[in-house]
Amino acid sequence: MTIQLADETRPSRQHHRERATPRFDLSLSENPFPPLPSVLSAVNIVLAQANRYPEFLPRRLPKLIADHVGVHSDQVVVGSGATGVAMQIMQALTTPGAGIVYGSPTFDGYPIMADMAGLDIVPVPLDAGGNQDLPAIARAVDKRTGLVVVCRPHNPTGTVIPIRQLKAFLDAVPRRVPVILDEAYAEFLGIADRIDPLALLPRHPNLLVLRTFSKAYGLAGLRIGYVFGNRELLSRVRRLQLPFGVSSAAVAAVAASYAAEPELAARIVRITAGREALRNALCHRGIAVPRSHANFLYIPGPGAATALRRAGIAVKAYPDGSARIAVGDPEADNAVLQAFPALSDFDPIPEAS
Ligand code: PMP
Repeated sequence: MTIQLADETRPSRQHHRERATPRFDLSLSENPFPPLPSVLSAVNIVLAQANRYPEFLPRRLPKLIADHVGVHSDQVVVGSGATGVAMQIMQALTTPGAGIVYGSPTFDGYPIMADMAGLDIVPVPLDAGGNQDLPAIARAVDKRTGLVVVCRPHNPTGTVIPIRQLKAFLDAVPRRVPVILDEAYAEFLGIADRIDPLALLPRHPNLLVLRTFSKAYGLAGLRIGYVFGNRELLSRVRRLQLPFGVSSAAVAAVAASYAAEPELAARIVRITAGREALRNALCHRGIAVPRSHANFLYIPGPGAATALRRAGIAVKAYPDGSARIAVGDPEADNAVLQAFPALSDFDPIPEAS
C-alpha cells in the first residue's frame, strides 16, 4: 500500500470539519501536563491576595531568574512571555524602517510583532533539512538591519544549530546589530546539544538570550518570559517595562517551579520519549519527519495538515500543507499516528534528516 495523504486543495467539507471542536489541540506547542500541585498551591496563595498590586516594576522576578541563570539582576528583563519581551526588544532597540532578519518560517510572533514595530522583514529560507541557513542570514545583514533572530531549537522544525556554526555566525554579525538567540525550547535539548550562553556573552555584547516559562515549565497561561545578556543593551530594553506589568502569580510560579526542577525534568523526559516514539513510527510509515529537539514534530506536506485536521486534530499548518504538532500526550500522539495510513512492511523507510 502506498501512503495516501489528503489533497490540500479540497473544498467545503474540510472547512466544515475545521469548524468542529477538535479532539486534540496540538497547534500551539504547549506542554500537555497541567501545573504541578506545588506550583498550583504557590500560585493559589498569591491569588488569595489578588486585590493587591504586584511590584510597580518587577524586581523579585528578575532576581530569582538571574540567580538561577547565573547572571546579575541588571542583566535580566522579564515580560509577558517571550513574546512580550521580544516586542519590548524591538521597540527599545530598533527604529521603524530598520530590517529584521530571521530564518523563515519561524515563530509566528516575529513577523507579527515586526509589523507592529514598523520593521522591514527580511526572511531567509530554511535549508532542505529544516535548518536555519546561518551563512545566508549573516549575508542578509546590511547597514539597515536593526535586529537578527535565530532560534535554538528552531520552530517549527525542531532542528538545532551546531555550536560551532552559531559561534561563527555571531563572529560574522556586526556588533551594532542585536541578535536574539531564542531558546524557548532549550530545556528539551539533550545534554550533548546544550550550550552555555554565558560563555558567549563576554565576546558578543550584542547577544540577547530569550527564554520562556511557557514550554518546558508548562506555564503558558501565566505569560512569563525573560531575556538576559549585556547590561547596557538590557537597560535600554528595561526602560520600556510596563508598570505593574508582571503579575504576583508569576513570581510565585517561578519560585515554585525552580524548587520542583526534578519533577519538571521527569516530565521533559516523558515528552521527549513520546516525541521519539512518534517520530520513529511516522518514519516507518514513510513520512520524513525531521529529528526534533523540542516538544513538537514537523510533519512535511503536502497533505499532512489536512490529514490531521480530518482526524480531529488541530495543528499549526504551513502553506505547503506541512504541519507542526505538539507532542507528549500519549492519546494525542496515538491519534496523530492513526491519521496516517500504514505502509506495508515491504516499503522502504526513508531517510529523515
Ligand atoms: N519563541 C519561540 C521560538 C516560540 O515558539 C514561542 C511560542 N510558540 C515563543 C518564542 C513565545 O513564547 P511565549 O510568549 O509563550 O513565552
